[in-house]
Amino acid sequence: MNVSSMVKVALAVAALLSSAESAFAQGKTRLLWLGQASWRIESPGGKVIVIDPWLTQGPKAPAQYKDLSALGKVDLLLVTHAHVDHIGDAPAIAKMYNTVLYGPADMVTPLIFLGMIPANLGHRFNKSGSVTPLPGIKVTAVKAEHSSLLVWNNPATPGSFPTCSSSPSTTNPTSF
Ligand SMILES: [Zn+2]
Repeated sequence: MNVSSMVKVALAVAALLSSAESAFAQGKTRLLWLGQASWRIESPGGKVIVIDPWLTQGPKAPAQYKDLSALGKVDLLLVTHAHVDHIGDAPAIAKMYNTVLYGPADMVTPLIFLGMIPANLGHRFNKSGSVTPLPGIKVTAVKAEHSSLLVWNNPATPGSFPTCSSSPSTTNPTSF
């Protein structure tokens, strides 16, 4: 299942859930919707996959997940693009659990060069292709028609970058 279809399936499941704190189990895979496009998926083998974790600032993230340690050990981190409601807390989670962050090269490269994640924690997808980051778990990147602007406020010049009025947060280092 590729990243995009996984997210679409996950979002379809989300519509069936009565609350963000409900867990959905199908077979031996557990899906937990954490608001917006954020998911915590537990594989049949017990590996934890987190997608697009917009938690600390996400308005629909369950309160308990505002504390990122509630996720437990994260084995795989997938980020679809750099908009704040998708990249969210991903750099913090990558560093917290020493988890490799998989995402588009145009997003991962600046994350590394801006020092938001160490180089060894960034895996860059091109426009397509598959990887098997964990035994039995295959991730395929597919072409998408969407922007992926990463905005970073330089701590040496705080407040120098104008905050977009559509940004849901004025304090998050990444917004669109
Ligand atoms: Zn977006």
